[in-house]
Amino acid sequence: MWSLLGIRYKILVLMLTISVVPLLLINFVWLNFSQRQLQSAAADRQSALLFSAAQTINDALDSKISTVVSASQDINVTNLELELAKVKLLQFADQDSEISRIALVNNKGDEQLIIKNGKLDTNLINVADSRPFQVVKLVSNEPFISDVWLLENTPYITISVPLLSFNRLGDQDLTSSEALARRFGADIKGALIVQVNLSRIWQTLVNARLGDDGYVYLVDADGDLLVHPSQSFEVLKTNFQDVAEVSKAKKLLESFDLQSVAENYKVEPEVTASETGTEVLSSNFPIARTKWALIGQEPVASVYSSVNRIATAALIMFAISIPLAITLVLLATRTIISPIRQLTDGVTKIGSGDFTSHIAIKGKDELSLLAGTFNEMGDNVRLLLDKLQTQNLSLAAEQTKLQAILDTIADGVIVLDADFNIVLANKTSARFVDQSEPTELNGKHWLKVFSLFYEDRDFTDEHLETNQHFFHDVTMRLGDKPMFIDLTTIRVMNDPNGIAYILTLQDTTQRRELENMKLDFVSMAAHELRTPLTAISGYLTLIAGDNVSQDEQKSFVHLAGANASILDSIIDNMLSLSRIERDALVINKHRIDWKHTVTEEVEGLRFMADARNMPLSIEMPDEDIAVWGDEVALREVLGNLINNAIHYSDDGQPIVVKVEKHDDKITTTVSDKGIGIPEQLHDKLFTKYYRAKGGLTTNSQGTGIGLFISKSIIDAHDGDIGARSVFGEGSDFYFTIEAFDEAKHRQDGAADGTISSRGKVDWFNKNTDR
Ligand code: ADP
Repeated sequence: MWSLLGIRYKILVLMLTISVVPLLLINFVWLNFSQRQLQSAAADRQSALLFSAAQTINDALDSKISTVVSASQDINVTNLELELAKVKLLQFADQDSEISRIALVNNKGDEQLIIKNGKLDTNLINVADSRPFQVVKLVSNEPFISDVWLLENTPYITISVPLLSFNRLGDQDLTSSEALARRFGADIKGALIVQVNLSRIWQTLVNARLGDDGYVYLVDADGDLLVHPSQSFEVLKTNFQDVAEVSKAKKLLESFDLQSVAENYKVEPEVTASETGTEVLSSNFPIARTKWALIGQEPVASVYSSVNRIATAALIMFAISIPLAITLVLLATRTIISPIRQLTDGVTKIGSGDFTSHIAIKGKDELSLLAGTFNEMGDNVRLLLDKLQTQNLSLAAEQTKLQAILDTIADGVIVLDADFNIVLANKTSARFVDQSEPTELNGKHWLKVFSLFYEDRDFTDEHLETNQHFFHDVTMRLGDKPMFIDLTTIRVMNDPNGIAYILTLQDTTQRRELENMKLDFVSMAAHELRTPLTAISGYLTLIAGDNVSQDEQKSFVHLAGANASILDSIIDNMLSLSRIERDALVINKHRIDWKHTVTEEVEGLRFMADARNMPLSIEMPDEDIAVWGDEVALREVLGNLINNAIHYSDDGQPIVVKVEKHDDKITTTVSDKGIGIPEQLHDKLFTKYYRAKGGLTTNSQGTGIGLFISKSIIDAHDGDIGARSVFGEGSDFYFTIEAFDEAKHRQDGAADGTISSRGKVDWFNKNTDR
């Protein structure tokens, strides 16, 4: 939790802790201490007040009793002289205004004399049944003090003393009880019954104050309220025994020796609930003589009011000062934090790679120094990075260069690490395994990419362990097509870049095929040449023989000539091939009367068709057809196509040579109903030495160069050559060349209409070539 807080809030919490906590603690201690002080002061107050109030009541009662006793003694009881008594009692009533009524009663209870409010009253009655009379006469020798009674809301008590038959004892110092004790056995002549107005005493209680809001009230032994500052009648009629302090006092009043209890009584205020339910600090004090109890109580709130006021003020101060302190701390910490924030932002930027950003912190404190160091570090890192980038760029350029060089190499090159995984490959090697990008080979084990067999066994990593080796005729399989390669391996020792082996893979498949084809070609060519040669020598032998008619001789010469022309065309083809291979094919273009040329060529080969009963026909438009080309070369093309048609058809099958004109193009097609060519072989027909396999060549002799030469010638004419063939049904071989255009070709060409497209020796001119 703490670690989640920002520095600013940490400082805030610390500052508040340092400043507020001790203050709160001091306040708390002070408050506690002050409250205790106040409570003890209040207790002292209560103790003093209750004590003095009790004293007042006791003194007042004592003085009243002794006054009444002394008045009774002043009266000549023995003879009960009323006139004298009247004088004495009037004097007595006059001296004490609180004496509201004095009644002199004889021992039968008859009132003899009444002084009311200082005056004689004639309304005399018998009070034999009244408690003041009875108690004095029958029960006690003690002066009697009645309960408090009210008359028109004024409190009174009645004090009565007996009138004894002996006269003055002359012992004024004796307490009333001692004096009365001495009267023991004396005859009671009557009683003096005095009503005392308590208003004055009560008023002193009402006026008594405990602190600001505390007061005192008086209850009797039953808990009935005698006087209360509120003074209201309702309150005065209430019994207070349920009030905690009153009930405590009641128990006390029940003490056996209440007098001595009261004398030694120590006030111990406690917090209780007052008669109105308020929390008060209360105490009581017994008045033994009347079995009354004084109750003092002061609201706790008022006891503590002074300190509470200070505490409230302190709280208000806190409430104001804490937000103020927080604001001040936050403001103050901002000056510390904002550079730290700037520093953090700057460092974050530098961390994310923005080394150009500088942390701008002014001043000379530690943070500014740190910022400076960071800026310096950023600069250094940037310089380093720039350097690295430049190095990287040149490295990348080097690599691109290297890759480019490698890619131009016709052989496959792969570089392996010590674990035989490819780290670099060129385009050719990728092409070997049908991958477009060399990088796709990177990281792979080389033998998983190139599955190689050498001497009929799997190639293994161990094969590379020699420093340098050349493996001839390694077979590589990719799909079902075998590929032959020559593999050169070089082992690199201790290369810092982790290069361990460099391998060169040279594709020898084509070369091998070509070599095989060449071998085939040589044997086929020998065979092809021998056939007409054998025929020629046969015919020559026949001609030289005896018994040969002239007609027969003619026929043999013709046949020998025909075979010689076959030989000628074979040799033509061979020469053409050699020139094509030497890149010495030269085309001399002329205007050719194509209908004438085609007819001548067909007629020249008719003897071959005739020999196999093949109808050979020509289809040509009526109009004149002239082409722009090399006549000798085009004758060779036409001858090759007709030758093939005858070769690859069964005896008796027709052959049609057709010439068509489309706009400025002339198409010549040789159609046969022969064996045809499977569709998948169509593409290869025009490649060198290619001879369709699988039974197609069984009945035929051939070298596999006729169509290749034909295509080369037509390409040199910017023409088009192709085949349409259905296997087993026959073939159409066609070529299209440019028609002669009077305007165009006269202008372009030489004066005689001849143009040499390559400017080389006209090798087709047999006179010069042979
Ligand atoms: P070749 O000397 O073998 O005839 P070419 O180059 O003239 O050589 O022909 C190549 C191959 O094409 C032939 O071996 C043959 O299999 C096939 N071919 C050429 N012309 C025809 C044809 N008219 N009908 C069927 N197959 C043909």
